[in-house]
Amino acid sequence: MSPEHNDQPPITPGPLSTPASVMTIGAHPDDAEFGAGATLFTWIANGADATIVITTDGSKGSWDSRIAHADLVAQRRSEQMSAAAVLGVESVAWLGQPDGELRYTPGLRRALVSLIRTHRPDVVLTHDPWQRYQLHPDHRTTGFLAVDAVVAAREPRFYPEQGLEAHRPSAILLWSADDPDHAETVDDRAFDAKVEALLCHTSQSETTMGSAASSATARDRFVERVDGRLREAGEPFGLDRAETFKRLTP
Ligand SMILES: [Zn+2]
Repeated sequence: MSPEHNDQPPITPGPLSTPASVMTIGAHPDDAEFGAGATLFTWIANGADATIVITTDGSKGSWDSRIAHADLVAQRRSEQMSAAAVLGVESVAWLGQPDGELRYTPGLRRALVSLIRTHRPDVVLTHDPWQRYQLHPDHRTTGFLAVDAVVAAREPRFYPEQGLEAHRPSAILLWSADDPDHAETVDDRAFDAKVEALLCHTSQSETTMGSAASSATARDRFVERVDGRLREAGEPFGLDRAETFKRLTP
């Protein structure tokens, strides 16, 4: 990486036209909303079918030791279904792995290939597994599983026993990329939907949203934070607000 890379303007091939079908692959309930909630909303409003895939059960996502494991898992599922409904997502798939302990296994890659070949997304969105200093192991592992599943899904000699036709998405968009080269604009409606979807994850209020569920002031602060990040992301692309990605063409 050259020291001056931050001074170079990002190369953008322009926004994608609305895909017929789109899939997010995230580690936890709320990752898709943080990474691409507005983009999902906009594409779905324009006619796309969408599937949210979540690799873990979300069972580490609370600082409240009084909540039972099973109750937290159930709550996070229900919050994710509410968030999906806000965005217009019809389909949510769970791989149910223990939160924080996700391991890269051939079986999980195969399970993702099956989902990709079944739903046949034009665009797959996931964590950037190459993001420098990404602390969360589930984010790294999910990103690698997702990218590797796209590579296998397009090749018919992988998992022929699935009885599913091979499928090649036209793009992978990686959220949280260090060097994003692709931006999707976020208009006011999409911004509101992203915020509303994030706020469905009330169990995450304390851990990731600055206690947004506890007071109007905290909620306003959270909305401002999300707004600020989208404006900052859009600025190099000449957009008021954007969700930005590293775009790969499989
Ligand atoms: Zn996460």
